[in-house]
Parts: sequence; structure tokens; C-alpha cells
Amino acid sequence: MRTELDAVVVGSGPNGLAAAVTMAAAGLRVHVVEGAPTIGGGCRTEELTLPGFWHDVCSAAHPLAVASPFLRRFDLAARGVALARPEVEFAHPLDGGRAAIVTRSVAETSARLGVDGPSYQHLFGPMAQHTDEICDTLLAPLRKLPAHPLVLADYGRRAVLPASAVARRWQTEGARAILAGAAAHAMRPLTATPTAGVGLMLVLLAHGVGWPVVTGGSARITEAMADAVTASGGTIETGRWVRSLAELPSADTVLLDVSPRTFALIAGDRLPVRYRAALGRFRYGPGVCKVDFALSGPVPWTNPDCRRAGTLHLGGTFEQVAAGEAEVAAGQHPQHPYVLVVQPGVADPSRAPAGRQTLWTYCHVPSGSDVDMTDRIEAQIDRFAPGFRDLILARAVRTAADEEAHNPNYVGGDIGVGMQTIRQTLFRPVTRWNPYRTPIRGVYLCSSATPPVPGVHGRCGELAALTALRDMFGIRELPDISPARLRPTVSAHTAR
Ligand SMILES: Cc1cc2nc3c(=O)[nH]c(=O)nc-3n(C[C@H](O)[C@H](O)[C@H](O)COP(=O)(O)OP(=O)(O)OC[C@H]3O[C@@H](n4cnc5c(N)ncnc54)[C@H](O)[C@@H]3O)c2cc1C
Repeated sequence: MRTELDAVVVGSGPNGLAAAVTMAAAGLRVHVVEGAPTIGGGCRTEELTLPGFWHDVCSAAHPLAVASPFLRRFDLAARGVALARPEVEFAHPLDGGRAAIVTRSVAETSARLGVDGPSYQHLFGPMAQHTDEICDTLLAPLRKLPAHPLVLADYGRRAVLPASAVARRWQTEGARAILAGAAAHAMRPLTATPTAGVGLMLVLLAHGVGWPVVTGGSARITEAMADAVTASGGTIETGRWVRSLAELPSADTVLLDVSPRTFALIAGDRLPVRYRAALGRFRYGPGVCKVDFALSGPVPWTNPDCRRAGTLHLGGTFEQVAAGEAEVAAGQHPQHPYVLVVQPGVADPSRAPAGRQTLWTYCHVPSGSDVDMTDRIEAQIDRFAPGFRDLILARAVRTAADEEAHNPNYVGGDIGVGMQTIRQTLFRPVTRWNPYRTPIRGVYLCSSATPPVPGVHGRCGELAALTALRDMFGIRELPDISPARLRPTVSAHTAR
């Protein structure tokens, strides 16, 4: 008997929507079920503080969206989603008014690094010439042979190292800080593997594709994806948390944009004991405490280049950042945390009323923490921008526990959905030839707990959907997801 729907997708984060877009482009009848009141998961924008101040609730900087083969084919620009590019991709202020800065140009960046300049140029120059190939490989299924093995080998032999090992090649605080700030995105001690891989990839992305924000807010990306789903006849339902697979409308295929923990809960006894046990062994990483600010003006960074940066990494020297991350890994709340900052207003004035600014920040904390880190985050900003506190009009705080309460994918506040060990980077969430397939026929995992990596790129969703298309519908060709096939419409999801 033919079911009413071909595919149900649970969760409307970038990966759930990428799965829905792919299924819809293949001509299938798709329904998306989202638990939260609004779509978008980790890619949403809201007036979190004051009217007229639009804050990215989760993701803010989008190198992976630019690098993503899925989003390149989806063609955000043709769908009216504009990227806003800061002059400086990211900055790392140091005490005494100094700062290391990374721009698109490897030459310009290395020229500011004194004796480490030639070594920086030597490391990133050749890799940056092959950013597309490296990104395509890193965002491809692991079981596919890399299209450019030699290019990847150069990256790969360093990627498996801890950041501390790669940083040894540099003497200057600036060069070492650049790597520390990028590698600390891994939410692991900088002496752990593969923090160098994360750091090198993020620096490479800065040179290769940039770290833009989205004009109007990150939500524009997921709104465009949702529009493409509905434009092709798909439907989206919000405000319905799925607690069991049995609750779902009948469909040939179910794609789950959920955490391994939620999958085990909603699948229950339908999962074989061994697979269930493997899901139970999946390790989650530390959490984040996020603080968004409405400001009366731009942050008064002592270093003028920091005022041009879209993203900033705060925490001081390599050793200081490493100490903070080591404390988090040891279950402590650092007094001087590593703080990630995005100042979207540098490139996108539409985020706040004229002359005003929004500021996006978070720091790492132990898993499940309910500690409000506002004071310590503000102290780190004030260290490099004295007078910052005088600009604060309003704040919105989310502890790690709040992060999970808002989105169950972020277990304990872990925004990467899984500790970034080498094993869990390669094999997520369990060791299987095709990690999207589950032991339940027709049920697929498509969240960022599956390969390739966390972030807003939609590849986990697309790769899961392509597996489902092959398995359940015998469709082997890549569906056409371009605007020519799934035309953009005026967004029904746009909040303003
Ligand atoms: C604070 C923060 C900052 C970040 N910064 C960046 C950044 O700057 N750049 C970047 O690229 N990435 C960033 N990320 C990571 C990025 O947001 C995620 O990797 C990405 O959103 C993952 O997409 P996803 O679709 O797998 O999951 P999500 O975006 O988490 O979406 C999952 C969706 O499923 C829904 N859901 C879960 N369980 C159920 C259920 N049982 N029933 C119904 N619905 C359910 C959730 O409500 C959610 O909407 C950040 C994340 C956070 C939280």
C-alpha cells in the first residue's frame, strides 16, 4: 500500500532541511516535523535582547556554508541570501594593544607575523591554493577516495596532531595565537588530537573562502531552505516534539536530525541491543555559555584592526588559551576563559538600529553547566576593549543547560554534538560503512552527529538523503537542487 508521504524529516536544522530539500528535489512528498516553535535549529536569528536588535541565536560565522558543495549547488545568492564580508576574517587581540589578524590574503597575514611570516606563508600558501579540493574532500563521505590525495595528504599529516605540536614551529605570540584561537573551536585541550586539524581547517577557510556573516542574520539560510521545501510541495510543522517513531505520520523513509541520545530514546526497542549500546558509548563534549549583547555603539577595541574583524578570539597567548581549555576539560569553569566573539555589525549594519550594535559571544564550560559566565566573558572583552561595559544596553544569557533545554541536540550544551576526538570525527556516531543508515529499515540519521563535521553546511543531511534515495527509491542520480528546479519564493518564514 502506498503511504501518504515518501519522507518525514524530524528536525529543521540546516541538516534536516538539507535532507528535506534533497528529497523534495527528487520529486518526493516530504513533511518536516520540528519540536521548537520556529524552524532553523542552530541557524536562527531573533530579537533576543531589545526590539530592533537581531541576534544569531546559534551559528553566526559561515565559512562552512561558503565551502559547502551542497550550499554551492543550492545557490544561496540566487535565492536572495547575501553574505556580508568583514575586511578582517578573524582577529586575536593580545595584551598591550597588539593583535594577530587573519585576512583573505595569506601574504598580508604572514607579513604581520615578523620572523614567523615565511613559515606561515609556507604552511598556508600552498594549501590555500587548493581550498576547494580540501573542502570538497573534508565535506565528502569518508568512504569516498579523495579526489586530490596529494593535496589532502599535506593537510592530513598535520591535521592528526594536537595544536600544541604544530604551534611549536612558531616563536611569535601572534602566529601561535592565530592557531590557538582557531584550534580551540574543537572544544578540547590544545594538547589533544585532532585540534591541529580543526585549527588548520578554520584558518584555511579564512584564507580560501572567508568567514562571512549573513546579511540580516543566519536565519536567512534556513529560511531559504525551508522555502525551497515548501515551493516544491513539501510541508513543515513546528511545535511538535517527537518522542517515539510510532508518533510519526506513515512514510517510506524517516530522516532524523536528532542527537544519538534522542535517537535511542525515540527508537526504543526497535534498535538492536548492540547498536543501542554503541549509541550509548557516544561521548559528548563540553558545553557553551552564550551571552548576546545589545550595545550603544561599536566595541572600543584598543587595537584598531580588531574593529574591522567579523570574528575575534579572546584569551591571550597560546598558553593562556590552552590553560582555559584544559580547565574546561578538567570540569572547571576558567576564571579567564577563551571567548569567541562575532560582531556582525562590522559587515552588516542591518542587525541593530542606526549607530547601535549587536555582539555575539560564548565561552566553553563543563558539560551541563548552569553557571552564568557573563562576568568572566565581559572581563575578557574589557581586557582588550576597556570601556566596553559602558556600552551595554541589554544582555541575553544561555548557560550550557539552557542550550540543551532549547535544543535537545546540544546534549549538555555541546554545540558540536559529540566530542571531537579523532575516532568520533571519522566515525560518527558509531562505526559503520554508511553512518547515516541505521539498523531500522527506512530510518536514517542526518544530524551533525554524523559525518562530515558540525557546522552549517547541510552535508550531513544531504548525504543521509542520498543514501535514503538509493536504498528506498532506487534513485541514484544527484537531484537538481538549484533554484531552476526549486525556485525561491518570498519567504513565509521571514520574521521581519
Ligand atoms: C551557540 C552556537 C554557536 C554556533 N556557531 C556556529 C558558527 O558560527 N558557524 C557554524 O557553522 N556553526 C555553528 N554552530 C553549529 C551549528 O549551529 C550546528 O552544527 C548546526 O546547526 C547543526 O545542524 P543540524 O541540522 O544537524 O542540527 P540543529 O541545527 O541543532 O537542528 C536540529 C533540529 O532538530 C530539532 N529536534 C531535535 N530533536 C527533536 C525531536 N525529538 N522532535 C522534533 N524536533 C527535534 C531541534 O529543535 C532543532 O531545530 C553553532 C551552534 C551553537 C549552538
